[in-house]
Amino acid sequence: MKARIALLSVALGLCSPTFAHILNTPTFASQFYYDGLIMTPDGKGYFGQQWLENATEVTLFPKNGNTAMWTLTLTSALGQPIVGEPVEISAAPLTLTVPQWREPADMAARFSSSVRAKVLTRIEQGLFRLKAPFEISSPVTDARGQISVSINNFHSCGNDSIPGSDQFVARAGTQQLTLTVKCAVTGLVAIPDTPSQGLTTAGLVGRHLHPDLLSALQSLGRAWHAKPDKPAGMPDHLTITGATMRWGGINPPHFTHKFGGTVDIRPIGTQAGPISVGDQAYDRQATQSLVDALVQLGATQIIFADNLTGVTQVKVNHKNHLHVSFLSEPLEPWHSEASDTDDEGLHWHHYEDIYDIRYFIPKVKQLSPKAFQFELGQ
Ligand SMILES: [Zn+2]
Repeated sequence: MKARIALLSVALGLCSPTFAHILNTPTFASQFYYDGLIMTPDGKGYFGQQWLENATEVTLFPKNGNTAMWTLTLTSALGQPIVGEPVEISAAPLTLTVPQWREPADMAARFSSSVRAKVLTRIEQGLFRLKAPFEISSPVTDARGQISVSINNFHSCGNDSIPGSDQFVARAGTQQLTLTVKCAVTGLVAIPDTPSQGLTTAGLVGRHLHPDLLSALQSLGRAWHAKPDKPAGMPDHLTITGATMRWGGINPPHFTHKFGGTVDIRPIGTQAGPISVGDQAYDRQATQSLVDALVQLGATQIIFADNLTGVTQVKVNHKNHLHVSFLSEPLEPWHSEASDTDDEGLHWHHYEDIYDIRYFIPKVKQLSPKAFQFELGQ
């Protein structure tokens, strides 16, 4: 009998301090709840909600107003909530840690001097976010053994192989949970340099676009390449001079170009390389036919220095590129008041309450190269 009890005790581990410790160890679990724009890997997206149990990594789209709730639950070995237990939350940049992305003065310095003060104000106001801001419901667990951490989107997504991310750590006694919060517009694709197929790039820092926009521009490029009898010296390809960072988000020194739905395109001239309105080589008629094609593809905004048909805004500082967007009102994500405008007179946009994917995901017509007609003259 004694022997049997001893055996049983060993089997149950009652003599083992390790097992006793495990028996008394609380469970620290988390649930992540996200309400906002959800992107699918093919670049499509929808507004919806997600619940993730014990997530270790999440991605927030860089749109203000996306909300996420990280709920931590502390339970005893017997499954009872542990009430009044202190939980310490900390967060720090994990990737994209350099001050140019994370410190207000260093970020502001990447913009033109005329807007630096405004950038700093927006950072102070919490509208333009270099790190994921968060708030804790209480320093100790409530009656359900829980504390909640509300985590907001940020805009330092970056251009590296992995997106900008912050690491959140929750500590309760000896228990610890970590959560990596990434900033990314997922699904963007890199623009290949293929002048032999009619499309190339020059001087890009961010070289990513939404896949629908890239394929539409590639079709346009092929049509341009195939156009016979171009005036002497005119290149056989179109040149993109501005796109989006690999993971979207803030794209200094540009205020726009955040979601992969906006490009800068070089005007057409009778020579390769940079061309500006006013240059002798600037070809107004050929550039008009490029604008016509962009309108055909569904461009919602074309900013250019020459008042061509289809240009939505004439701006003298847009001589060497057409700024073309396929988004609804592609303006700012860190707007303050409705009447507020940027230094170029554009309204800053309030994305907080917008639940229409066309503000973030471009709507582009897919046309075959044959659909484009270029009236070049001679
Ligand atoms: Zn632009």
